[in-house]
Amino acid sequence: MLNVPGYPQVWITGGSAGRRFMQVRDLWNDVVERLQTSIEASELACWVGAVQPCALEGDVLVLEVPARVHLERLETRYRVSIEAAASDARGRRTSVSLALGGACAKPSRAASPLPFPSRYTFERFVAGESNRLAFQSSRCVAERPGERFNPLFLWGGVGLGKTHLVTAIANAIAGRMPGKRIALVSAEVFTNELIRAIRSERTEGFRSHFRRVEVLIVDDIQFLAGKERTQEEFFHTFDSLHGNGKQLVLASDRPPSEIVNLEQRLRDRFECGLITEIGFPEYTLRKAIVARKAELLGLRLEDDVVEWIAERIVSSVRELEGALARLAIGHELRGGEIDRAFAASILEPILRAPEAPTVPRVQRLVADRFRVTLEELTGRRRSVALVPRQVAMYLSRKRTAATFSEIASGFGSRNHSTVMHAVKVVEERRALEPGFAAILESLEAKLARV
Ligand code: ADP
Ligand code: MG
Repeated sequence: MLNVPGYPQVWITGGSAGRRFMQVRDLWNDVVERLQTSIEASELACWVGAVQPCALEGDVLVLEVPARVHLERLETRYRVSIEAAASDARGRRTSVSLALGGACAKPSRAASPLPFPSRYTFERFVAGESNRLAFQSSRCVAERPGERFNPLFLWGGVGLGKTHLVTAIANAIAGRMPGKRIALVSAEVFTNELIRAIRSERTEGFRSHFRRVEVLIVDDIQFLAGKERTQEEFFHTFDSLHGNGKQLVLASDRPPSEIVNLEQRLRDRFECGLITEIGFPEYTLRKAIVARKAELLGLRLEDDVVEWIAERIVSSVRELEGALARLAIGHELRGGEIDRAFAASILEPILRAPEAPTVPRVQRLVADRFRVTLEELTGRRRSVALVPRQVAMYLSRKRTAATFSEIASGFGSRNHSTVMHAVKVVEERRALEPGFAAILESLEAKLARV
């Protein structure tokens, strides 16, 4: 098997959605091995041996060669064989793009591009109350992989920055420790690759491939729910790596305890490190994100426009980004100053007022957030679920059209002064405790969604 000196084993994205991760170096080794049956050894060493695997972009394997003579020889004689071997190795049609040596032929140059999507770095991540713990623990893991917080389990709703953070970990480690074998893969890809390996009777290869990495990052781990065979395989991969002090990072849309149909032993593993939640971005963070993203887009926004957007778009960072992208396009088309009226006219379609939430909806949401049953939440026993009940009353008062007595009856016909008391208590605590305020903000954000 040929070696590509100095080229770090990295996993890079492929496919336009950036969801498919494949180790290009391993793919190339596989291709070369296959070519051995069709190309004579001396020819292979001379021409194919000079190739640097550069990237897998969708279904195109990008290869670099040192000189024009290689380019011509490979184009005329070997392209077809290489494409056939690559298609074979990947189990799907793959074409090859040959280029004259450049960036990827010199892996050691100072400004080498980040191996993982470069927009996901710690520098580009805006931290605030709701994501600070996740941010700090991610940095900590990136600085000293395998030493603390192992596994690191990040969870939170859609579009709140999980993929950004786990990819930033991969980029940071790759930047500081070139050569470190880092695998970044979504649980879905892990599952698909496993199925493919089983079908082609190459599970051993699959296994050793994953067990050789030094940092394993699996995104959207909730995808493993109900997939017994994958869970089994992942469990052993996890144990083998963890037992050898390798770092594991997992991202999920919910905490381990809420992933249904997950083997208990895997849940135990997920829970044995650090679990951190990324919450809904609070107002201050939303403002900071809007300001930063506008700057990156080259948009000049006055403070009042930044505030106006941060007040209205509350449910995810992805939506904030979407809003800014719209503004940028609108600005390009229409020109002029971006003031509130301009922003309103552009963003109107995504700001359509959601229907006012109802008391039962508030109750379901709060019960879910505090992990109490609806009976406990609305029941009469004072001692049970007091805080969630007061929160639910507060939100019902602030966010629904219901009157005090309607709310009271929604909670087992308590006197309406109970509701007034709850509102006061929650208001006071909200002003004093940022953590509590953040919980309320995240619940309000969820209620604001259509
Ligand atoms: P998730 O994986 O949680 O669904 P992503 O990581 O894909 O969310 O984030 C959605 C988008 O929002 C991405 O473009 C990401 O860069 C951006 N984003 C999320 N959180 C932040 C943040 N705190 N600072 C800057 N960008 C963020
Ligand atoms: Mg994600």
